Amino acid sequence: MTDIPNTLGVPATADQVVEVADIDQLRGVLRSAPDALVLGGGSNVVLGRHLQQTVVLMCNRGISVAADGEMVEVTAAAGEGWHRLVRHCLDCGYFGLENLALIPGSVGAAPLQNIGAYGVELAQRLVRLRALRVCDGSVRAFDASECGFGYRDSWFKSAGAGQYVILDVTLRLSTQPQLVLDYPDILAELSRMGVKRIRPQDVARAVIRVRRRKLPDPAKVGNVGSFFKNPVVSRDVAQHVQSLGEGLSAHAAEPAGMVKLSAAQLIDQAAGKLETHGGAAVWPRQPLVLINQGNATGSDFVALAEKIQAKVMARFGVPLVLEPRTHGL
Ligand SMILES: Cc1cc2nc3c(=O)[nH]c(=O)nc-3n(C[C@H](O)[C@H](O)[C@H](O)COP(=O)(O)OP(=O)(O)OC[C@H]3O[C@@H](n4cnc5c(N)ncnc54)[C@H](O)[C@@H]3O)c2cc1C
Repeated sequence: MTDIPNTLGVPATADQVVEVADIDQLRGVLRSAPDALVLGGGSNVVLGRHLQQTVVLMCNRGISVAADGEMVEVTAAAGEGWHRLVRHCLDCGYFGLENLALIPGSVGAAPLQNIGAYGVELAQRLVRLRALRVCDGSVRAFDASECGFGYRDSWFKSAGAGQYVILDVTLRLSTQPQLVLDYPDILAELSRMGVKRIRPQDVARAVIRVRRRKLPDPAKVGNVGSFFKNPVVSRDVAQHVQSLGEGLSAHAAEPAGMVKLSAAQLIDQAAGKLETHGGAAVWPRQPLVLINQGNATGSDFVALAEKIQAKVMARFGVPLVLEPRTHGL
């Protein structure tokens, strides 16, 4: 039995944990363990105490670049760290990822939930990815349009879950700054930093400062970032929900005509900031984040999440959907 690394910091073991550095090794492991669970950094999973299966940790490395005029296509292996890739691109003068700085985890997991932050989603930068089909070891390229991207979602996380292992990801970035400054928090931070002429590097620094202030550092306090997705509902439902609470915000969302509610506000007003179950608790500074108080298990997190979901449903009639995936629970 071997421990499975995970940023929630819950005790979790598997029959076997294998670090995979290349495609041949991956094929070999999957041939003998086709039901293996593939992980990167374990920063978006809630794990049971023991997984009766093999866990594969993607450790393949490599970043390559193909120039195309002002644009570049950057291909990064699944086992690269996401934030390392963001820093590497900024250092090289390839812009477009700065709003996604400091998101934990691996490049290979980034398409799973179409990672996003501060007005940018991976889907806006991804050109294609390559993935290995678990059942026969063949490799297939998926264009962005074939990935079924949605808000914190993709085909790989939903209908296609477990069918493919993502091997590498190709992103289209620009050598010219493409600043996305829609978020007041980031603008306020840039102003606090005294930045006059904003460069992508400044945006990344501002994002990092805001994230460090708002989110618990998983190295110190176990968490997976947002535990719930923001609910996307029709305008009519949003109006009804807003009439049940105080000052609830609603922002236009995809598809057209839909509205995104703030899960944090719903939790705050329906459940408060003091909910706990076993060692799992709500992070008082941001109720969307659940934290490990020191001795939590994966089951504690699931039970706490269910408690919160029930309270939000009872007060607002809105189902809250988990953002991390659960395994072995
Ligand atoms: C403090 C904190 C802040 C966060 N902030 C954000 C944020 O702002 N935005 C955001 O979108 N997310 C955020 N997250 C969530 C998380 O960082 C991302 O979802 C990240 O992409 C997960 O990467 P990982 O390598 O840790 O994935 P893991 O947790 O290892 O895996 C997640 C899922 O993907 C699958 N998977 C992993 N690698 C592969 C692969 N190569 N092929 C196929 N399937 C695979 C796994 O089976 C699992 O189901 C945050 C997490 C933390 C702890």
